[in-house]
Amino acid sequence: MIKKILEFNNTKIAFNYKSDFDLKRAYYLFKLLSLGIISKLGRKVLKMLVNMNFPIDYIIRKTIYAQFCGGTNIYECVGVINNLKNSNVYSILDYSVEGSVNETDFENSMNKCLTILKVCKSKDLSKFIVFKPSAVGRFSLYEKITSGERLTENEKEEWLKVKTRFNKICTEASKRDVMVLVDAEESWIQTAIDDLVAEMMKIHNSEKAIVFNTIQAYRKDRFSYLIKLHEQLLGKAKIGVKLVRGAYMEKERKRAERYNYKSPICDDKNHTDEVFNKSLRYIIQNIDDFGLFIGSHNENSNKLSTELLKKYGINSNDNRIWFSQLYGMSDNISFTLANNGYNVAKYLPFGPVNEVMPYLMRRLDENSSISSQTNRELQLIKKELKRRKN
Ligand SMILES: Cc1cc2nc3c(=O)[nH]c(=O)nc-3n(C[C@H](O)[C@H](O)[C@H](O)COP(=O)(O)OP(=O)(O)OC[C@H]3O[C@@H](n4cnc5c(N)ncnc54)[C@H](O)[C@@H]3O)c2cc1C
Repeated sequence: MIKKILEFNNTKIAFNYKSDFDLKRAYYLFKLLSLGIISKLGRKVLKMLVNMNFPIDYIIRKTIYAQFCGGTNIYECVGVINNLKNSNVYSILDYSVEGSVNETDFENSMNKCLTILKVCKSKDLSKFIVFKPSAVGRFSLYEKITSGERLTENEKEEWLKVKTRFNKICTEASKRDVMVLVDAEESWIQTAIDDLVAEMMKIHNSEKAIVFNTIQAYRKDRFSYLIKLHEQLLGKAKIGVKLVRGAYMEKERKRAERYNYKSPICDDKNHTDEVFNKSLRYIIQNIDDFGLFIGSHNENSNKLSTELLKKYGINSNDNRIWFSQLYGMSDNISFTLANNGYNVAKYLPFGPVNEVMPYLMRRLDENSSISSQTNRELQLIKKELKRRKN
């Protein structure tokens, strides 16, 4: 099987699913965001208006929301899901409401996952479910367990409930042959999650990877964690790994400085890239023991992944390996990969406008600079608009 080296610059493939109107909206949005100062101001004004309960829903829905979210509920997302599916790109419905704090919130989040599973499988809409650990359990409880402190009797009971929620989601997903992605958050809650997800893998991953833990390559210790996890589960379960670089770098560094401990984050981007590539290589070399989900907007990382598949004689559509980007970003990567037969699924956030605001703010922050990523998006959209005009 000889495959050509992928180039991610065919805009006809990348934006085939977008109408002229959608594309122009994306252009103006990224253009505005690329002007760092304007978007910073815009962000402040936006936050103020939201805090004042000013009725700006309509404007947000027609602009940033439409770019980065699928709809306010599952049913509203169906059009987008089917649109992506026409180009062999799957969706991963991501209920992006944040800030769960009590048992009712945690139960609601779990039930939301169960509903997504039911609807998605009955309509055959998605192959994955995703959730954040902090949506189904108390942040400070994960933190206490991670720190190694002893739990009180009440906390032990509370922890049992968290485990039950994880297991319910994994059991229902497994029944439907849907894969479960457990997102990673801050390092100071992660050990509790690592252990719990490994437990879930032992229960649900005997035949294939159903449950996936997230490895953040920006953490210096994550390659050794990967090796340890492999040793721990070898012969007992397949190991599901979602490989990303990590989204909480600033927060991690600030906390380390504040509490005067050595930051767990790689000293520079090159080091993060090194951990990412090393982990990628290791998993692909040992793919018989793994399921791999690569979450990255980095063209080189996606290219390297395809080259490694080729090198180790793994088919592009091998169902153990998935590529993923966020909805509204890096369509050139997603659609090129899908067009070349790779398995691709995009995170598709949904939820009421006011509740997905923290998610949207993060997307604004991420794209609010003259970063190479924003420039790349702009350059590609411009190229496609020109191509269509001609
Ligand atoms: C499908 C998907 C799922 C995701 N799930 C999660 C998740 O569960 N948890 C999570 O934390 N993030 C998650 N992310 C976000 C991800 O971790 C990255 O923040 C984001 O994708 C940018 O990294 P990149 O590989 O796409 O691009 P790149 O531009 O190549 O990398 C940027 C990243 O490199 C790292 N970096 C940048 N500068 C430095 C520096 N000076 N020193 C050290 N490291 C540096 C940071 O991690 C930064 O985010 C997800 C992303 C995707 C696409």
